[in-house]
Amino acid sequence: MSRIEQIDQKANCDCGAVNLHANGRVVSMFQCGCRNCQKVSGGGHSCVVLVPANAVQITGETKSFARPADSGATFTRHFCPECGTTLYAESSRAPAFRILLAGLFAGENDWYAPNQLIFSRHHPEWDLVDSAFPHYDTYRPEKPV
Ligand SMILES: [Zn+2]
Ligand SMILES: [Zn+2]
Repeated sequence: MSRIEQIDQKANCDCGAVNLHANGRVVSMFQCGCRNCQKVSGGGHSCVVLVPANAVQITGETKSFARPADSGATFTRHFCPECGTTLYAESSRAPAFRILLAGLFAGENDWYAPNQLIFSRHHPEWDLVDSAFPHYDTYRPEKPV
């Protein structure tokens, strides 16, 4: 694993109708064990790459679905209307950022290096996650001032 600071990578949805170009700073990489991520990823957690909003360019038509998150924020997922692959997501809690899933870059994501698991309170035990990094009940607590 070699953590990257910048990403410049393209990816397609499963059917190829939508292309994504991620080009910019990698703000953070983490895993999320919330129930929504389990449903959408089909596993026990999602593998998130957080980038600034302007680092994501989409070619092709996407559909979106917005839902209220546990935090009270609105979570919006953008996906291909043809094949359903999630291209990116965003949260009203952090509108300056876009959420990418490492799996979208399948075959070219050796650089993925998460440093925390969030929403571990809903994370199932059968889904093994690295115990070398912190697991937080919900979000990482704010650093004490
Ligand atoms: Zn598609
Ligand atoms: Zn989640």
